[in-house]
Amino acid sequence: MIPFVSATIDTAALRQNLRVVRARAPGSRVMAVIKANAYGHGLVMVAQALNEADAFAVARVDEGLALRSAGITKPVVLLEGVFDGEQLALAAAHRFGFVVHIEEQVRLLEQAPAGAPFDVWLKLDTGMNRLGLTGAQFAAAHAALSLLPGVRQPVGLMSHLASADIREDPENMLQLQRFAQATRDLPGARSLANSAALLNFPAAQADWVRPGLLLYGVSPLAGTQGAEVGLEPVMTLHSRIIGLKDVARGERVGYGGVWTAERPTRLAIAAVGYGDGYPRNMPSGSPVLVNGASAAIAGKVSMDMIGIDVTELPQAAKLGDPVLLWGPGLPVERMAALAGTIPYELLCGISQRVAINSRKIPS
Ligand SMILES: *Cc1c(COP(=O)(O)O)cnc(C)c1O
Repeated sequence: MIPFVSATIDTAALRQNLRVVRARAPGSRVMAVIKANAYGHGLVMVAQALNEADAFAVARVDEGLALRSAGITKPVVLLEGVFDGEQLALAAAHRFGFVVHIEEQVRLLEQAPAGAPFDVWLKLDTGMNRLGLTGAQFAAAHAALSLLPGVRQPVGLMSHLASADIREDPENMLQLQRFAQATRDLPGARSLANSAALLNFPAAQADWVRPGLLLYGVSPLAGTQGAEVGLEPVMTLHSRIIGLKDVARGERVGYGGVWTAERPTRLAIAAVGYGDGYPRNMPSGSPVLVNGASAAIAGKVSMDMIGIDVTELPQAAKLGDPVLLWGPGLPVERMAALAGTIPYELLCGISQRVAINSRKIPS
């Protein structure tokens, strides 16, 4: 049975994008960020495709466990760290590295039972004011971790930039300066760069880069697309036409009747909606590709369906025809902008009922 909605994952593109990242950051190792189900692309499939990454980063213990259950043996870093003895024991059993960003996590390590040392990244808050220790707390935490036999030495040093996608924001330089100053006399690997910092601030690439979005072929910089830096889109979201009808001039279409036919209109209904993660904010007039040709959404996005004006398509739309929502030819960056959001949210928002596969796109 052909699924109504599916996300096709181009694993060759994933691997190609990793090569692009390496070429951009030739002096750095790559911690491939595959949290949130690999940004909606499927955690295990992506991890298997990116077997040339140096390590994987996920947000939480459960995500690391899913990787280990699938037989992935590569280093895994938990970006939010561990919070109790149970999570610490899981980290020990599955050899997860993790971020330490708050004093309670230092205390947890001080009380840890003896065992193989943990790979720890100590996080400095350089101004984002999300996770990380500041000033004297950071120095004290570093001193404490340096004494622990249960922590591999030297401890890794990391931070995160709040506005790396805005190159001219002076906060970027301030954050990099604060990091350089607080870590000046410390040994250990350094990591600062997400995708945007990797592109905008080569000086922030350091020992380890932490790209997420770039690996999926998508640009984090507003108004640009991944293709401009040689990336290939990885996810194609597509659906099929499940209904067709002719509506007369003046007829309204969909919930609230917000779209009115201004001429006799051939309307196709495609089986995709906000229940699949296609954003409800996507306005009428936004493009989809029907049989590869551009057509416009007509009316509000429903939970399971969208209406499409196919009146002027060169090839008459038929039941079962493929409808591409984003992917090659329709960049997710552009669709996110139309929906008033960022590509991260569209990709991560793919819902459970969307079949994820690595097959070729139906045509
Ligand atoms: C999610 C995340 C990243 C990856 O961000 P992208 O913008 O997708 O490259 C890097 N570092 C940390 C700490 C993160 O939470």
